[in-house]
Amino acid sequence: MARWHETTRFPLLLDALGKPEGDPAVRALAAELGGEPVAVTDRLIGEPALRSRRLLFSSGGAIILRDGEVAAVLLEIGPASPPGLTLSDWIVGADNDAMLDDLLNATGAPRHFAGMREPYLILDDGYARLDFEGEGGWNAPGNLRRIVVTHAKPGLACRPDDDGCPTCSELLVRGDGRDRGVDVDGTVEALSEALAAGLLTEDAHWVRLRDLQSLHASGLLDRVETQLTCRTCRRIICFTLIRGSAATFGYFVMNDAMRHRLEPIPPVEQWGDPARIAEDRDAMQYVDHAAGAWFLVEQRGVLYLQARYTYSAMVDDSVLVRLDDAEVDAYLVGGSEYLSELATRIQDSAPYSDRSPYRPRDLYRGPEAESYRAAVSAAVVNHTWIAGQRRTT
Ligand SMILES: [Zn+2]
Repeated sequence: MARWHETTRFPLLLDALGKPEGDPAVRALAAELGGEPVAVTDRLIGEPALRSRRLLFSSGGAIILRDGEVAAVLLEIGPASPPGLTLSDWIVGADNDAMLDDLLNATGAPRHFAGMREPYLILDDGYARLDFEGEGGWNAPGNLRRIVVTHAKPGLACRPDDDGCPTCSELLVRGDGRDRGVDVDGTVEALSEALAAGLLTEDAHWVRLRDLQSLHASGLLDRVETQLTCRTCRRIICFTLIRGSAATFGYFVMNDAMRHRLEPIPPVEQWGDPARIAEDRDAMQYVDHAAGAWFLVEQRGVLYLQARYTYSAMVDDSVLVRLDDAEVDAYLVGGSEYLSELATRIQDSAPYSDRSPYRPRDLYRGPEAESYRAAVSAAVVNHTWIAGQRRTT
């Protein structure tokens, strides 16, 4: 049996997971955390709604319930109000200055990482996420902020402790009808303000927030979805308008959000107002593509080739080059065959290395890289729709 069964009180925390507030295991944990909670926060998360309840105790510990069952137990250690708990009361051989190695030694539990920077321990059928903040991360004393025990594997689900994210947890505006639901106008407005304030970022692969309502109103699509990432908690907000059904609003991790169904977006002429259509005319436009190899896009008469390259199993990226006059002439003669040859030449030149003549031309390595990537993504998001239209005509 792993050492932590003897040297820590994690078994008490694990026992409470998945149980309702009145369960003896939860009562026992609450008693150890300080008896009655000093603060209770109830909130509805998303739509369809999930009930989230946070019980904060005088010790600095907290219990978070979702739909009436314990989803997480938090041991708050760092500077917090009320002040953090005394870790040595919970883990023999660890104090509040514990670093990652100290916790591994004290618990004997296997260490893993969610992503690159989120260490956690495996505790039988549960997990203990270890949050460190500050210079030196988990290798410097005094950086441990909290330990969060859950049944859900870190990285694969939104963290229950983010239910109350100060940046994004209040952005859903509910209607005043009997079933409340989403107030779409109010929510679009709240999200737009947060986006303009730089609190959220928008994923250009999905429908832009400003286009969400006009696309939905056009009736051309079954589902119209915007995805926005909170800069504070990194959760992805998926806001979806559905034909003949109520709007939904949920928080997701990247892995789940990217699996949502995205229908090809019809050309703006079919759903945009005149101002929006005029704006699109100035934006980057899809011209052609070869599946898995390249995209050709055009903006104000200039042609850009996005060519994919791979190197070993680790590198799979693209370059974006502005076609020079000779390349444009060759394209006008040779068409997409020429572009496939050019894309092969780019790949063969190893465009990630200094010896490639395409590397200095790669706009994805230049100062405007981010805006080029966003513009190309927005332009090619339509391409599958265009390909589909061609097949049917
Ligand atoms: Zn957030």
